[in-house]
Amino acid sequence: MPIRFLLPLAFLLPAMAQTPDWSKVNDEAMRHYQALVRIDSTDPPGNETKVADYLKKVLEAESIPVIIAAKDPARANIIARLKGNGSKKPLLIMGHSDEVRVDPTKWTFPPFSARRSGGYVYGRGTLDDKSDLTAALMTMILLKRSKAPLDRDVIFVSEVGEEASTGPGIEYLVNEHWKDIEAEICLAESGGVRRRDGKAIYATVETTEKQPKGAHLVAKGPAGHGSRPLRTNAIVHLSRAIEKIAAWDPPMRFNDTTRTYFEKLAAVSNPEEAARYKGLFDPQKAPAIREYLAEHEPGTYSMLHTSISPNIVQAGYQVNVIPSEAEATLDIRALPDENITAFYDMMRKIIDDPTIELVPDDKNARPGAAPSRIDSDAYHALEAAYQKIYGVTTMPVMSTGATDMAFLRAKGVQCYGVGAMVDEEDAAKGFGAHSDQERMLEEALYKHVQFFWNAVSSIAGK
Ligand SMILES: [Zn+2]
Repeated sequence: MPIRFLLPLAFLLPAMAQTPDWSKVNDEAMRHYQALVRIDSTDPPGNETKVADYLKKVLEAESIPVIIAAKDPARANIIARLKGNGSKKPLLIMGHSDEVRVDPTKWTFPPFSARRSGGYVYGRGTLDDKSDLTAALMTMILLKRSKAPLDRDVIFVSEVGEEASTGPGIEYLVNEHWKDIEAEICLAESGGVRRRDGKAIYATVETTEKQPKGAHLVAKGPAGHGSRPLRTNAIVHLSRAIEKIAAWDPPMRFNDTTRTYFEKLAAVSNPEEAARYKGLFDPQKAPAIREYLAEHEPGTYSMLHTSISPNIVQAGYQVNVIPSEAEATLDIRALPDENITAFYDMMRKIIDDPTIELVPDDKNARPGAAPSRIDSDAYHALEAAYQKIYGVTTMPVMSTGATDMAFLRAKGVQCYGVGAMVDEEDAAKGFGAHSDQERMLEEALYKHVQFFWNAVSSIAGK
């Protein structure tokens, strides 16, 4: 085509940052990534200041100013900002600098070696979460170097304590450094791209999560001699209550995220699975499908309702004594819009035993918030970036676990959990996050940096 027909196209393109030379960027990203994995920041105790020192040096070498935000000097968060023109509110990009502990005897390659082997990088934190930290860092560096014009400030946060102690991390940042991190939109961990047989099949963006709640079931009855069994035995009553709760299928409810998730999941599943996911919307078919999911896909089943798992039982102290008290501790994961008081009342009705007291426990609670929107420009930008880099469709997900995004969503930030590509069978083989052989595809790191740069350029760019 003659060049005069090509030229006008340039005016149709958004005034985005110039695309980086990815082959050069890959080497640089790998260098930072390996350096970060080689820092032992296992939590507890954390010692994330070593990570902060590294990031500070890298960012300052690019003339990006850095704020050290530390409640505990050994556990420094860092905050860095690229200024936009202020026409839109800031975008926060966040990764956590701590990682879970290791049993070094279980590792083929030492856990802090960042050894490259067979196309993978091995080490604690390779997936969770030094990959996201690297992608966010590289995005800051690339935007700064290209002098990309920005409509929003882009704020980078390296956050401590995500794995074991939110106090010096997200809570401290939200309570003491809010003016430094306040944003309209946030990208953090917990979505990603799933690969099957070497091919990316779909991407997920975490837009909401269940809320950790809890309760104790306390059974009381007369103590007695073990040789004369009692129908009133507290352990017997508690066991029955646990049995009833475990067999109960709490009311199913969808939100925008889970409804879209199951629709989109059906579209990328085999016919049998697709029929199951679609059948959840059919009141006739749903009960049998839920029973199937409870047994075969417990994670999927948990997305459908507020869940209850009995995880600690305490009772008795001597074999010939009938104890007067028995207690079970329940892990309850509530849907984002659950009325938990009403839910506790439903549980009491299911248990239907006056000798059992249900005692609510809010110890692990996090602030509740509405799901982040899936019709926003930011969400659409993430869909477009996943499509561009991996050629896949994106589905929103509700995490059944809890993330630090809960604290930001509660402040009104639209948070989206994103992540790198992993093989779906890798976790089962023992290579997943938190496992003894945590690893990341080299290719996945490179693609994640590209995805991140594309997403941030599109959300914050002019
Ligand atoms: Zn993590």
